[in-house]
Amino acid sequence: MKNVNCPFCGSKTIKEIKAIISPFNQKKYKLMNCFECELQFFTPLIFENVYESETIKEYANFHKGRIIFPPWTKETIRVLRNLSINLNDKKILEIGGGDGINYTALNEIYSIETKNYYVVELDSKSVEQCKARGLTNIINSAFGPKTVSKINGKFDVVLLLEVLEHQINPKEFIKLVFNLVAQNGIVVITVPNRERFFINYDEFQGDLPPHHFLRFNKTFFRKNFASSLYYLKDFSHQFKIKNFREAALKLTSIFKVNRKGWVLFVPFIPIIKLVMGIMAKIKGEGIIVILKKNDHFQK
Ligand SMILES: [Zn+2]
Repeated sequence: MKNVNCPFCGSKTIKEIKAIISPFNQKKYKLMNCFECELQFFTPLIFENVYESETIKEYANFHKGRIIFPPWTKETIRVLRNLSINLNDKKILEIGGGDGINYTALNEIYSIETKNYYVVELDSKSVEQCKARGLTNIINSAFGPKTVSKINGKFDVVLLLEVLEHQINPKEFIKLVFNLVAQNGIVVITVPNRERFFINYDEFQGDLPPHHFLRFNKTFFRKNFASSLYYLKDFSHQFKIKNFREAALKLTSIFKVNRKGWVLFVPFIPIIKLVMGIMAKIKGEGIIVILKKNDHFQK
């Protein structure tokens, strides 16, 4: 592949890790590693709207008005509370706000006025759900220079929950985001941790292009955001096994055996759950980052 530069730092010091065929559009992509900034990215970096089309099955759920809070939403609330960061009466911008589930969760804890909560979201079916949750300041488009020109003022808090890994131009994206943060304001980021166990299994769930283009580890944030880094940690998704039959059926697909054999896997589920819980503590499935805008805020 010729002339591929890192989409974040521009470096040419990059190396191909592997080539894949996406199960979502059957196109070929290459996973690249940048030695300069530690980003991993898939090429070609070409956006496709897999959201409204529900190519990734999960989005059908988002379009129906789910009520269960995702693990990164719960982790965000836990971290904000631990750091005594209060969102009451703050001016908040959520980019890639999806169906508004994060707003619903935050609004249970903090008193957030809808007039102070802004959402940018490109998926119009998700936007309908945002409206159903009571949100009114919604821009239904992708986040870019045009969108930014429609946004007035600066924000105390910018939320990027499971959004950065979808970007095809992270350099411009982050620059535009930082310009919208008020002095001493914060940016809360959650992304999948590429150093987690079982990443290959997760790929079938959606961690591949044209859904996710970028892959992060903690070093990436430490290296590139040192001057504004306020908090950084990996966290476990704390998956819950409520239905043993469903979990056992999942195992039949992982081990590629006949679905009828699911009963044989049931006795192993509590053991698997325990082991996976311990593994997730060693290397969490997600990363949470809080950046604070100060005089040295850069990039
Ligand atoms: Zn780079």
